[in-house]
Amino acid sequence: MDQPSDTNATPDLRGMSRDALADFISRLGQKPFRARQIFAWLHRRGARSFDEMTDLSLELRQRLAATARLSAMDVDEVQISSDGTRKFRFRTVDDHFVEAVFMPETDRRTLCVSTQIGCPMGCAFCRTARLGLTRNLTAGEILAQIYEVNRAVAAIDESDKRALTNLVFMGMGEPFLNFDNLTNALALLQDDAGLNFSRRHITVSTSGIVPMIDRFGAETDNKLAISLNASTDAQRDALMPVNRRYPLADLVAACRRFPLRQGRRITFEYVLLDGLNDTLDDARRVIALLRGIEAKVNLIPYNESPDLPFRSVPMERAEAFRDHLLRAGLVAVIRKNRGRDILAACGQLAAQGIARDQATN
Ligand code: SF4
Repeated sequence: MDQPSDTNATPDLRGMSRDALADFISRLGQKPFRARQIFAWLHRRGARSFDEMTDLSLELRQRLAATARLSAMDVDEVQISSDGTRKFRFRTVDDHFVEAVFMPETDRRTLCVSTQIGCPMGCAFCRTARLGLTRNLTAGEILAQIYEVNRAVAAIDESDKRALTNLVFMGMGEPFLNFDNLTNALALLQDDAGLNFSRRHITVSTSGIVPMIDRFGAETDNKLAISLNASTDAQRDALMPVNRRYPLADLVAACRRFPLRQGRRITFEYVLLDGLNDTLDDARRVIALLRGIEAKVNLIPYNESPDLPFRSVPMERAEAFRDHLLRAGLVAVIRKNRGRDILAACGQLAAQGIARDQATN
């Protein structure tokens, strides 16, 4: 399952655990409180450079700059949708584009975060799949997306220093193919000396890599979402190649044994595709598949893309599908489409421009 990652050998302080950072700073002959100061600069204030760490001596800042780095994600472009959604395009240090989507609502401000540059999973309905995989993002790069957006949003609303309330790892990439960097980033986000993000406000979504679902349940206490999108193996094989390796029976078995805290549910994302997975028979099969699982089903009317052959469903069909699930006692909602006009909606992230840039390399 190993995927290519950042090859820069200089240690990245942003991706280090608190203990690893303390160890690194002590090897520079510094007192432990220096490591605590640096950790707060990195994870509470989202510092972009050692120069910003103004309570460190100039000499220490210069030593840090000579021996370490801070992974950075420069905001390259921000597109604002008519519904308030903002798509942030970041440029990595090796000149690739990555996107994250900020979705403000009255009671929450959610960021959809990317974990890979591109994605190798090949889901037929997804624009990111077209890019293939370039590499994994480092833990520091995953965090940098969050810290940059947090800063940008806090700057808009100065009364709120902790602008983001919810994180969903559903952007570009399959998070479970970048498991170690993902879980390092989650631990740092939840550190009380950093942003102190609540575990229950972080959801990680997978296309269905069964062994990693087990590992995620054993090693973290965050919420799980499954990109389901089909009610039979034949449908899912055609839409999501991962199903040929981990068919529906194995996927739902992993969900049944997933350790769920009381009151929590596993979210199942189901993109409704016209004429493919949207009938009441599909709804009945979804009900049977999810029997016995504390489940919430998010129905997502497909976001059409001119270069992909799939069509969205009429709202009445989405509502009929939802009502069928509700009558069977499932929690089911039709998800509002956010940022459709700026290609920020589900399955639309493709960092336009990357192909052009890569072609010139
Ligand atoms: S839907 Fe998710 S897992 Fe599938 S190709 Fe797109 S980004 Fe990758």
